Amino acid sequence: MAATMVTKERPALTLDNETFEFLMDCVHCGFCLTVCPTFALTGDETDSPRGRLYYMRLLAEGRIDPNESVLTHLDRCLECRACETACPSGVRYGFLMELARSQLAEQGKGPTRKSVLHTFLIKHILPYPKRLEMALLPLRIAQSLKIDGLLDSVPFLSRAARMIPPLPSRSWQHLPEIFPAKNERKLRVGLMTGCVNSVVLSKTNWAAAEVLAASGCEVVIPPNQGCCGSILLHIGHHKEAKELARKLVLTFARYEPLDAIVVTAAGCGATMKDYGHLFADEPDIAELAKKFAAKVKDFCELVDEVGLPSPLKPLNWRVTYHDPCHLAHGQNIREQPRRLIRQVPGVEFVDLPEADWCCGGGGAYSLLQPEFSDAVLDRKIANIKATGVDVVVTANIVCIMQIWYGIKKHKLNVRLMHIADFLRAALTH
Ligand code: SF4
Ligand code: SF4
Repeated sequence: MAATMVTKERPALTLDNETFEFLMDCVHCGFCLTVCPTFALTGDETDSPRGRLYYMRLLAEGRIDPNESVLTHLDRCLECRACETACPSGVRYGFLMELARSQLAEQGKGPTRKSVLHTFLIKHILPYPKRLEMALLPLRIAQSLKIDGLLDSVPFLSRAARMIPPLPSRSWQHLPEIFPAKNERKLRVGLMTGCVNSVVLSKTNWAAAEVLAASGCEVVIPPNQGCCGSILLHIGHHKEAKELARKLVLTFARYEPLDAIVVTAAGCGATMKDYGHLFADEPDIAELAKKFAAKVKDFCELVDEVGLPSPLKPLNWRVTYHDPCHLAHGQNIREQPRRLIRQVPGVEFVDLPEADWCCGGGGAYSLLQPEFSDAVLDRKIANIKATGVDVVVTANIVCIMQIWYGIKKHKLNVRLMHIADFLRAALTH
């Protein structure tokens, strides 16, 4: 490892005894190495889960400095959590990495430290739908004039702009506060519309509401919900993330009683299910956050539970499914989306090789680590190509944007759909 060994009185990571023990749960067996996308790229131990955990331990013991070399290997982690699924010792890798990033970011050593522009974009634009809509106006105009390809020549904008699929008309952003259940009402559920989701995939939010309503749910959609904080947690900005999370909890509390709070973005869902822990030390909101977290359900999870309406319209497509990391590894939701897709008549379902291998999206990872992100994406696109399908279905906005970018880059003739849009297409009304 390229880290200088030192002994420090104030280590870069401050862990309480219980958290330090989580680090010590790693028995260095290496089972996680074969599932780690960054280790697969470099073959370097320091780009593996085991290597990163060891770095965290050395940082916590004050035996190394968080120098550029150490930070680079920590930054390269996608936080896909595939290593957690593979780990026989139950190491809480995602929790530890999030904590490490948050403490390092407080010292100005987070993943966005080298770019003021990225920090600004991730902290002050992406979590706020109105600001994002304004920032995307040039792209919206360029897309409507079919000259959006020109934006590829703008150095910074190119990667971000090329990830954005055709933007739905702004009218899709205005959802009613209540979507009544069709036929008998089985549940009353809240729908989380998200930050980037509510601009880039606003039509998908409508589709989700329509599928839920057709499945017997009254859907409550609080306006101006904002962001769940997930994208900020990913880059270690804990304090700002918690402010957004707090607002979200209080917003939904005003609409109780709700049987569930449904989310169509896997990354957001994984974060929201963890709000109980996030606010455990804040007595004024701890109980509310815990109740909120207990109600969070991914869209696939809830629709699978309540059941799709019948009959469904046949869709004569060859379809495959990509597992978002934060759904498969973060929430252990794998069977539900596949079950739902298979229920649509006419569908020929094709298994995607390495379906739960990350696509390289990883929150803001594609902006911060474009080379690694592209390399991970190339593997995903090659697997999609091998299936020969007409349609790829997934269940997370970041995967949609990343795979969209990959499909365009590799000129694949494949349609990409969020599962809510896919199921909406099978509704008969
Ligand atoms: S699989 Fe778990 S215990 Fe084994 S090296 Fe990886 S993190 Fe450590
Ligand atoms: S979270 Fe993903 S990228 Fe990070 S160490 Fe684990 S498997 Fe590798």
